[in-house]
Amino acid sequence: MRINDYHVHMGKNSKGVNYTVEDLIASMDEFGVEKSGLSILNGVTVKELNDRVMEACDKYPDRIVGYAYINPREAGAIDEVHRCMKHKGMRGFKFHSWKHGYFPSNNKALDGIMDAIAPYGYPVLVHTGTAPLALPQQWAEIAKRHSDVTFVFAHIGYLDFGYDCVECVKDLKNVYVDTAGQVEIPVMEKALEELGPDRMIYGSDWPYKYPKSEITKFDYYNLSEEDKEKIFYKNAMKIWKY
Ligand SMILES: [Zn+2]
Repeated sequence: MRINDYHVHMGKNSKGVNYTVEDLIASMDEFGVEKSGLSILNGVTVKELNDRVMEACDKYPDRIVGYAYINPREAGAIDEVHRCMKHKGMRGFKFHSWKHGYFPSNNKALDGIMDAIAPYGYPVLVHTGTAPLALPQQWAEIAKRHSDVTFVFAHIGYLDFGYDCVECVKDLKNVYVDTAGQVEIPVMEKALEELGPDRMIYGSDWPYKYPKSEITKFDYYNLSEEDKEKIFYKNAMKIWKY
């Protein structure tokens, strides 16, 4: 089975252990992953973090898909969108309203940023599932207003908002979900039934989660090879625009 991982990070974890791009490539090789969608979240300015993502893309252009991490509370967020999009390794965006400390539904800069992103046609990965700043319902409002932007709701709403996440995106055709860290069988089943394999994407959230358990959890659902290929490989390729 061919695998792409939609959702990985590098940099320091909360214990101060630093994960490099070489560590990432080694993990990808271990679990048979072809390409990974990378963002770095721990640092002072997004510019410095995005520079490191672009370096990783330059080093491993066939393995790393870069995401521009955008903070709507930083001045120059729209400039950062355009700056990152000049780099050909960058094929997506990452927003983390919990880490950056804003409510998506009342942040005044987000609409303008989404308007700047839309013409590039690359998808926006948003962390969902952490109250009160990163609820799927809040991001669903943004996705509804920007139907010309493709969104990926990370973690299917995570541990507390899995059902809500599927409910609030099921009618929004521009929204996919990634499966990183979603371990609840009823939530995964609801996503498979209501969104289907066309709108679900495998992600591991490496190094915070173990790819092997993120991959093997799918064994439970008896998916056809065709459906597995969509979730593990094709949907990512489609929205990354390969
Ligand atoms: Zn993440």
